[in-house]
Order: sequence, then C-alpha cells, then structure tokens
Amino acid sequence: MAKIVVVGSGIAGLIAAVEASRAHEVVLVTKANLAESNTHYAQGGIAAVLSTDDTVAEHVADTLSAGAGLCWEPAVEVLCADGPRRINDLVNFGVEFDRSGDHFAMGLEAAHSHARILHAGGDTTGADISEALVATVRRTATEIHEHTFVSSIAVEADAQGQRRIVGLEVIDADGTHFLEADAIILASGGAGQLYRHTTNPAVTTGDGVAAAFRAGALLADVEFYQFHPTALAVPGSFLISEAVRGEGAVLINAQGERFMQKIHPLAELAPRDVVARGIQSQMLAQGGEPVLLDATALGNDFLTERFPSITKMCRSYGLNWGREPIPVTPAAHYWMGGIATDTEGRSSLPGLYAVGEAACTGTHGANRLASNSLLESIVFAHRAVKTLGSAWPENAPGVRWASAGPVAELSLQEPDFKPGSPVVDRVELQTLMWDSVGLARTGAELESALDKLHSWRPAPRDHRLFPDWEDANLLLLARTVTEAALARLESRGGHYRLDYPATNPTLARPITLVRKAS
Ligand SMILES: Cc1cc2nc3c(=O)[nH]c(=O)nc-3n(C[C@H](O)[C@H](O)[C@H](O)COP(=O)(O)OP(=O)(O)OC[C@H]3O[C@@H](n4cnc5c(N)ncnc54)[C@H](O)[C@@H]3O)c2cc1C
Repeated sequence: MAKIVVVGSGIAGLIAAVEASRAHEVVLVTKANLAESNTHYAQGGIAAVLSTDDTVAEHVADTLSAGAGLCWEPAVEVLCADGPRRINDLVNFGVEFDRSGDHFAMGLEAAHSHARILHAGGDTTGADISEALVATVRRTATEIHEHTFVSSIAVEADAQGQRRIVGLEVIDADGTHFLEADAIILASGGAGQLYRHTTNPAVTTGDGVAAAFRAGALLADVEFYQFHPTALAVPGSFLISEAVRGEGAVLINAQGERFMQKIHPLAELAPRDVVARGIQSQMLAQGGEPVLLDATALGNDFLTERFPSITKMCRSYGLNWGREPIPVTPAAHYWMGGIATDTEGRSSLPGLYAVGEAACTGTHGANRLASNSLLESIVFAHRAVKTLGSAWPENAPGVRWASAGPVAELSLQEPDFKPGSPVVDRVELQTLMWDSVGLARTGAELESALDKLHSWRPAPRDHRLFPDWEDANLLLLARTVTEAALARLESRGGHYRLDYPATNPTLARPITLVRKAS
C-alpha cells in the first residue's frame, strides 16, 4: 500500500483522494476548509458528449479550435472520450445535474457546436459537485488536514542519481511538519490572484505550481491566461457565466449598440479571448466605462430560476438584471499553463503528479473551451490514480514536446536580492500584472514589468504566515508568466501581443520553463 499525499480539495483533489483511497493510504492536505476552492464557484457547468446528436469527434474539434493550434491532440482525445464515464462517476457520487424530462438539461456555451454543458442547481454546478465530493471524501479512509499549507516539495536522488519526490513540508497552526509520500498528487489550482481583477477566490495563489517549479518540475504554456469577458464590474469581480450569453443575453456599449457582431461571426459566443478583447477595446473607447450585459429579454422569472446565484448577487449590489442591463468587465479567470504532464498526470519529476488547473496537460492549448476545465480535472485525476505504483516513464511529459517539435526552453533562477530592495506588495504586483502582463501585451511593457518584478524580493517567510508564502509564490509565478509572454513573439489564444498581432504558424509549440540549477 503506497502512501499518497493529495494537495487541494477542489474537484481534482477530491476525485484523486476518493479514487486513491480505494487502494492506498491517502492524506489530503488543503489550505482552507475542504469546500473552499475555485471549484466551489464554478457556475456554468461541465462539458461532455451525452446526447445522441453530439459526437466525441465534434467535442475534440471544438476544443482544438478554441486552443488555437497549441492543444496536444492525444490529451484532447482522452478528455473528450473519457468525459461521459467520468460524468457518470459524479452522478454516482451524488451530484444531481439539472434535468429536462428524462434527460440531462444541456446548455450551450461559447464555441461549442452542440448544447453539451451539464449544470446543477441552475448556476451552482461547482458548489453542488464540491458538496457531493466533500461528503464522499469524508466517508472514505482518507486522512484529512484542513487549514494546512503546503510550502515545499522535498526531492532526493536515489543510488542511480535519479531525482524523485520523498514528501512535502506543510505548515499548520502548530508549526512546520514533514509528510513522507511515495507519490504526491498536486491539485492546488491556478493563480488568478496574480491579477487585480479576477474571478478566482483568495486561495488561488498558485502555491503548488510554484513549489513544483522550485523542486525542479517543468512548467509549460504559462503565458496563456484566460480572461473571462464578463465579471460584474463591482469590487470583488463576481463572475457572470458564459451560459447567460448562451441563453441569449447580448453585450452593448454606452450608446446601447451591440458591438460583438462586427468583431466575430459568433458575436457574443465567440471564443473568450476575442470577446474579452472586444469588451476591452469598447471600454477604452468609452473612457474606461464598463460595457453592459443586456439580459432583459430573458425576463425576470427565467433569470431567477436558471441563474439563482447571479440574480442574488446582482440584487446584493442593487441591480435588477431582468429589468436593466448590468455593467461588466473582463477578469483573470483560468490558467491554461501549469505543471507539464503527460496524459496520466505525471510531471517531469518522478513521483509528482499534477491534475486540475495546476497542471498543463495540453488539452486547452492557448485557450480553454468553456466548461472543459471541470471535465479535465476529473478525467486526469482519475487517470493519475490508475497509474499509481507503476513505473515512471522516462521523459513523462516530454512525449508532448517530441510530437510538437522543438520547444523554446526558458530557465529561471531566483535572483540574489539586493539588500534594501523592497518586499513585494501583493496589490502592487496584481496591478502591475493587470496593466502590463494582462489582456494585451507589448515587448516594452513586459520588459519593464520584468525589471520591476526583479526589483522586489519575497518577504522573509515566517513559518506561521501563509500570506508571506503566497506573496513569494505569486512573485515567482509573475516572473514565469512575464518571461514566457516576452518569449512568445506572436498572438495566439489567451496571449495577445499588440506588437505581434498575428499568429505565427512556426510558433505553434509550447514554451517550457525549468528552474536553472544554481
Ligand atoms: C467563478 C468561476 C467560475 C467557473 N466556472 C466554470 C465552469 O462553469 N465550468 C468549468 O469547467 N470551469 C469553471 N471554472 C474553472 C474551474 O472551476 C476550475 O478550473 C476548477 O475548479 C479547478 O479545479 P482544481 O481542483 O484544479 O482547483 P481548485 O478548485 O481551485 O482547488 C484548489 C485547491 O487547492 C488548495 N490549495 C491551494 N494552494 C494550497 C497550498 N499551498 N496548500 C494546500 N492546499 C492548497 C485550495 O485551497 C483548493 O482547495 C470556473 C472558475 C471560477 C473561478
């Protein structure tokens, strides 16, 4: 029986813990309570081919098209083919997806050629999934540590000089502890807190990706951040799901005119990066004023029933979206990049798996298709667990690079910080990333952002204070995103360079990042 440590209690970590506990000793570590995660806030739903007029091949084609030439096809095929079985698992774990008569009610979202989005509770899909999985994990043999922060991953070389993980360091209210592990499944989520406007909750600070990078794991595609086009333009940036546009809501500018029809044939349902930049340029043209999302044609009754949590949130800000259009702005939403893995969740570091948003499986390429991320989390968490205990293949995620041709490899060393350099301030970092490494980038701004990032140093990490660790992680990840964005001299998917507005077909390959040996 192997000892497996799972990090994170979003959908990916919960599935990994539940599945692994069938055959292994499992410890689940999570930095807040079990229910707090990006997963909890997911509204729109989860994509899968479940109706007779839809096919796996069409789901694959839609995913590849959104990914803008950078998806890794074997991973996409696995995602779409395994999807229906994994949805069935969720149903067996107690998730009650919304139904229409005898069938699941299937929604349509941007860039999907079919209505294939399952949802639960109208717009509380993530919360419903999380609740069912939390209840399941509490019934399994899993040892659970809440409010426990994973700070670093320990690696040792064996007699043949092969490096392999041996455990991890965690911090809780009693101090620092070492947890031994035969394998670690990192499911610690993305890093939306890199940006001033984000739909992600406060726990989303990229800790697992930073720890894996420091331990020597390869990262990939980190320059690709997806900005959700429509967050309510209020402090806290509450997400207004794509499904609202899927149901027929339209975007209008300050003059009350629709503008997306002129930008893309799919108008409001164009890929997210296209809609987000369309909104951003409208906002620039109207002096920074948010654009408006007009859902009034859907009517109050429908909106309240189909989108109860958005309706409630709008009301809490004094907005009645059934009667008047509401102000919206883009916000950082989903990280396509992360720890490079193969189709079984294996990273380049033997013993270290990465699943969910922390991983870069290659399924999303340069841009994620809406509602594919919850699906990716369950599919690859399940596959990772199936390979526990089997031999670690050489060059695990490298098969992707082999089929993609040569990759641009960047290496990064944590610099020696000058005495007296200021300690990084989170709000300043988030503002810098939003202004200079956000929706539209230029070489000059990226260079200047990198200089600024190099001028800051992480706070001395007090072993009791999670925020200091989080700031250090955000600083490190900000440098990886900025370095990769500088190196990608083209525009593609979620990465848009004003100075290189075209896509360059010769650059249709991932950029990888590895820590420079000191
Ligand atoms: C508002 C919103 C709406 C969304 N809507 C959809 C949707 O409709 N469909 C869809 O497919 N996707 C959606 N997404 C994206 C999707 O929710 C995420 O990609 C997915 O939930 C990621 O799951 P995960 O398990 O990888 O990570 P998360 O759910 O983010 O969980 C990460 C876990 O790791 C823990 N953790 C982090 N750092 C540490 C540390 N240092 N130590 C210990 N634990 C740590 C966190 O506390 C958390 O429990 C949405 C995201 C947001 C924010």
